[in-house]
Amino acid sequence: MKLLNYINGRFAEPQSGKWFDNTDPATQTVYSQIPDSDSRDVDAAVAAAEEAFKTWSVMPVKKRSDILLRLVSLIDANLDQLAEAESLDNGKPVWLAKQVDIPRASANFHFYATAALHLNSETHAMENTAINYTLRQPIGVAGCISPWNLPLYLFTWKIAPALASGNCVVAKPSEITPVTAHLLSELCIKAGLPAGVLNIVHGTGPNVGAAIAAHPRIPVISFTGGTKTGAEISRVAAPMFKKLSLELGGKNPNIIFEDCDFEHALSTTIKSSFSNQGEICLCGSRIFIERSIYDKFKEALVAKTKQLKTGDPKDKENFLGAIVSKPHYEKILSYIDLAQQEGGTILCGGKAIHPQGRCANGLFIEPTIIENLPYTCRTNQEEIFGPVVTLTPFDTEEEVLKMANSTSYGLAATVWTTNLSRAHRVAAALHSGIVWINCWLLRDLRTPFGGVKHSGVGREGGFEALKFFTEEKNICIKL
Ligand code: NDP
Repeated sequence: MKLLNYINGRFAEPQSGKWFDNTDPATQTVYSQIPDSDSRDVDAAVAAAEEAFKTWSVMPVKKRSDILLRLVSLIDANLDQLAEAESLDNGKPVWLAKQVDIPRASANFHFYATAALHLNSETHAMENTAINYTLRQPIGVAGCISPWNLPLYLFTWKIAPALASGNCVVAKPSEITPVTAHLLSELCIKAGLPAGVLNIVHGTGPNVGAAIAAHPRIPVISFTGGTKTGAEISRVAAPMFKKLSLELGGKNPNIIFEDCDFEHALSTTIKSSFSNQGEICLCGSRIFIERSIYDKFKEALVAKTKQLKTGDPKDKENFLGAIVSKPHYEKILSYIDLAQQEGGTILCGGKAIHPQGRCANGLFIEPTIIENLPYTCRTNQEEIFGPVVTLTPFDTEEEVLKMANSTSYGLAATVWTTNLSRAHRVAAALHSGIVWINCWLLRDLRTPFGGVKHSGVGREGGFEALKFFTEEKNICIKL
């Protein structure tokens, strides 16, 4: 399969005339070719988006909404094909892509196509003097750059609010997982999305991503990815005064108090540790357990983890699929080595897996639990982004808060307790953009989503995202 860029409503070859290989991580075989685009393709996409903006930005919002809702129906109708493509590209189990990734991509468009109908603005009356009202206007061409872990889910999480609020978009999916973005282009054509409203340019971060960040006619950028890349985009974009939303890495704490609902905490901790091979920015990778239940919880968690099956993403029995790419697989294994050098004890997992059959050459790692590490060590401070968690006991609330808040990240945290006062107290004291109490990854798309410290700048979700993609203009009328 040869992928193509989607520019000005049509498929287009990259200007370089070059493609590079796309590999299935479950078998390590090449199965598609990705356009090796560069700044010339981004220029063409920006020109198309600018032209389209002239009509899309002034189109009645109901009409825009109707077009985006046609896309929702098409995503729903193509659930199986999209889920299989996502699994092939990323290595995640097909069942997971069917249950989570693709329904959420549809929900993203549905949510913003309808939310835009309700976006309102403010008026401020100055008694007997004047009245102010605020217009919220689309900004222009938005740049959307997304990562490989939840490919279509996160790609659409940016594109949907940008389009619904009247902007046109130049978007780049991760070069590691581009196929569902390519399939989305086909659906956009079928849905009758006007030419140039959405443009998708495939290629590498240093070529295409950097060209979007540096483009003088892209005034607003929404980025999800690693903290280092986010810093680079800020460095390039800040002197041009671009509006930036940055959703970056995490090293999330999962805090388990003695008075938790043990079975519920246990079963959810399995999911928050190892879902999507631990490659979710919201996974809880540092598990803190109150000392009085440390051994009991540890033993139960290890026993349950040993029952998890890892292997062929097409097999419904497997909870974990393949790791997304060879460099990422090697990075995760190197952190497991590092943990041992730092004095950690591996309680289960810790090794690569070579399943029998068609996935014998695939990139699989056992779900891994490690204990006996100081909270300050690199394994406990740096993002691993794989099926690897550490266990650390604690004695007091004060102590666990100190450890939980000790990293440079602050994306999400999970707290397990039946003490209501403690739940509120701990939630308020955590340095984190999102706190789940007695649950994990329960998402209401209306809520603000994002991190503090090195986990990002700005909030996505709800009206926050529609506001981000619009500029406020106050108009004051003298009475
Ligand atoms: P990267 O930062 O490597 O890549 C993210 C995107 O940026 C990709 O499309 C990438 O392209 C592109 N890119 C790379 N270099 C540049 C550049 N110089 N300028 C512009 N764009 C560039 O992250 P990963 O894809 O490895 O994703 C994993 C990271 O994402 C983790 O740190 C994870 O925590 C974070 N993440 C955060 C989330 C959040 O909501 N806070 C959600 C999900 C993930 P290419 O792939 O082609 O290199």
